[in-house]
Amino acid sequence: MKRPRLAVAGLTACSGCQLTLLNCEEELPEILRSFELVYFPMAESGNDPQALFDAAIVEGAVSTPGDLATLFRLRHASRLLVAFGTCALFGGVAAMNNAWSGREELMRGVYGEGERFESFPPSRFSNFVSVDFSITGCPPEKPELIALLAALLAGTLPPTSSYPVCTECRSRENLCLLLERNELCLGPIIQAGCNARCPATGIVCEGCRGPVREANVAQELELLLERGFTREEIERRMSRFTPEWDYGQRH
Ligand code: SF4
Ligand code: SF4
Repeated sequence: MKRPRLAVAGLTACSGCQLTLLNCEEELPEILRSFELVYFPMAESGNDPQALFDAAIVEGAVSTPGDLATLFRLRHASRLLVAFGTCALFGGVAAMNNAWSGREELMRGVYGEGERFESFPPSRFSNFVSVDFSITGCPPEKPELIALLAALLAGTLPPTSSYPVCTECRSRENLCLLLERNELCLGPIIQAGCNARCPATGIVCEGCRGPVREANVAQELELLLERGFTREEIERRMSRFTPEWDYGQRH
């Protein structure tokens, strides 16, 4: 059987999502036997920039003309485009400051007054191209990547779930940090899949997996305001991994 041809690439990001694949030590030999890893610049040299792929798994936000060119090229060259990680889906940490003014000031602080590379506010893939499948997470969970690869081998895509971190948190019988300790936890509006990793260790969910589908943002906002948090601190927390939220009635 012909092995599916795979591309793994990154735009503006920390490479942590691509590392999720490299960290699959036990599964890597099987992955390399099952797929033709045609393009993976972070891990191997000699990549053919004109190759065609069955699937491209791409991390990072779009923040430079180079990112945009790479994204268009991978979209054009791949039957399936997978947005891999929170930056690709929502902008992520790269877009953390989009919601706040002062981009120029930020650029000056980081790069000084001299000549700068061309860039624009980091943005999600879906603002530019169609996306066939998404795996969220900062970084994504390994089982979700393995499930995707297994499904690709079967010529399909894995099922997706849509429920908040609170569901996993409650099933682990964790103490609720929001209701019982009055801490600013975003669990009610964040996509599960991490098995409530942070609340399980007594740390609030900061939203690294981005919003759950049909998140009741207005109600979470209402609850947090009632509990004494200011609108500014709530929005700052929410925009850490996802700059664009629909705040519903309370916009
Ligand atoms: S601690 Fe956070 S994630 Fe867990 S149940 Fe409470 S609000 Fe939800
Ligand atoms: S609990 Fe929240 S912040 Fe922690 S890993 Fe899960 S989604 Fe990310």
